[in-house]
Amino acid sequence: MTSFLLHSVTSFSTLALHQPLKTSIKPSTSSVSSPKIMNIACNSKTDKRRASMDSPKPKSKSKKSSYGTSRKSILKKTFNQEQVVFTAPVLNDPHVGIIGGGMAGLVCALTLEKRGVKSTVFDTGNHGLGGRMGTRVIDPQPLVFDHAAQFFTVSDPQFAELANRWVEKGLIQQWEGTIGKLEMGGLFTPFPTSPPRYIGVNGMRSLADSVLSLSPQVNVVRPCWISEVEAFNGLWHLSENRKPRGRFDVIVIAHNGKCANRLLASSGLPVIARQMKKLELSSIWALLAAFEHPLPLPIPSGGKGFEGALVEGVDSVSWMANNTAKLQLKHGPHCWTFFSTAAYGKRNKVPQENIPIATAEKVKMSMLEGVEAALGLSRGSLEKPFYSRVQLWGAALPTNTPGVPCIFDDKGRAGVCGDWLLGSNMESAALSGMALANHIADYLLQSQRGVREDFGVGLDAQFLPLQAHDSIGQFILQ
Ligand SMILES: Cc1cc2nc3c(=O)[nH]c(=O)nc-3n(C[C@H](O)[C@H](O)[C@H](O)COP(=O)(O)OP(=O)(O)OC[C@H]3O[C@@H](n4cnc5c(N)ncnc54)[C@H](O)[C@@H]3O)c2cc1C
Repeated sequence: MTSFLLHSVTSFSTLALHQPLKTSIKPSTSSVSSPKIMNIACNSKTDKRRASMDSPKPKSKSKKSSYGTSRKSILKKTFNQEQVVFTAPVLNDPHVGIIGGGMAGLVCALTLEKRGVKSTVFDTGNHGLGGRMGTRVIDPQPLVFDHAAQFFTVSDPQFAELANRWVEKGLIQQWEGTIGKLEMGGLFTPFPTSPPRYIGVNGMRSLADSVLSLSPQVNVVRPCWISEVEAFNGLWHLSENRKPRGRFDVIVIAHNGKCANRLLASSGLPVIARQMKKLELSSIWALLAAFEHPLPLPIPSGGKGFEGALVEGVDSVSWMANNTAKLQLKHGPHCWTFFSTAAYGKRNKVPQENIPIATAEKVKMSMLEGVEAALGLSRGSLEKPFYSRVQLWGAALPTNTPGVPCIFDDKGRAGVCGDWLLGSNMESAALSGMALANHIADYLLQSQRGVREDFGVGLDAQFLPLQAHDSIGQFILQ
């Protein structure tokens, strides 16, 4: 095992995720005082009361973020809002609204369907679902790059079951190319081929886009950015820039970072909002580059050049992978994905939606110099890529975790899933989505029977630092 091993893989893989997650809501240990409880009755015929967060908000004069809301006002709203409390039982045929169509949200929807619960997944993706399972395809050649998740490993039996089904359906396959450690100067050491590494057959995004293709109980709405969630008359009302996007019995937050903090700041879910605000995320630059010729790689005796390498000793590059070889694209140019270190990402952080041209050029040049240094090439000798593009993952990987499979606020009928709850990889995201779906299905059953048990989970879990590889998350590689 390498030094960046997943410290919690074995602990969460042994959790019986199909069992109800029974954790009582305890008072938060945070110094912020407990929120006031606002009862929102579920009798839609008679009660039209709205939580105080629905009242018009005073306009903030402080500096606006890219979402049109200042950080200060988000914090203030987060900590001052009142808790939504649903009291009446959930009616038959409940509908769950899932905000986020990455691995966690998709597997949550899939598992809810298995438990007979229908759902709608909302995702912002313009090109497809998947979030950080992204593949960029540049026509007309085409050039293909997995530009976030590179591959995944499997350690949990339930995730193994899912992965086996994806293998059978031809959605994923093993990546058998050589992967290893590349030390600055070109010293390459291959990793053993076990445990198996999996990739999307046509890239990660195609896996995400196919996961729900045979799921009649799941509705997908994309591209759609849910900008407001509002509890009213016993249901959650979701909207996108004031356009109504549906009413739901339960909502799932399957995304994190700035966007989730903003959404939760005036949601009526202060306990969840406070938990999510504790999450810390790294920033990583990705450079996608296509070369006419193969890169001059170190070849171990009797071996082939590597297809993926964790780079050590270079500030601007921590991972490099050859998509053309990985995806077995027989012809065409050589498409490489390079990731920076998190330290480099932090030092060179800019608004990811609006990267200044000068920054993009500087980052590209220093990452290409990093590639030269890693491969032990003389400065300026690396072939110039004929296509290149830089991208900043501003909320790349979690650096701390509460170490619980999911969060569920039973009073507010809202849950949270995502990689960060258990770790920083696709498997953690899938397990979290699965755990939350099973928990919600159990909760719905007991609510429909009129039973009132405490079903909150993860609401006061403490966060601990997360050990992981700088730019591709947690893995057992050898
Ligand atoms: C550079 C990089 C390399 C990585 N490499 C690997 C790897 O090799 N192997 C591995 O296992 N893991 C890797 N990871 C981690 C892996 O990608 C993540 O752990 C996993 O994909 C997270 O899934 P998720 O569903 O939790 O979140 P996400 O994938 O982030 O999904 C959240 C989704 O919600 C959407 N969304 C956000 N706000 C809203 C809104 N208001 N309305 C609607 N939709 C919304 C987002 O657009 C996104 O699609 C890597 C990550 C990065 C950044």
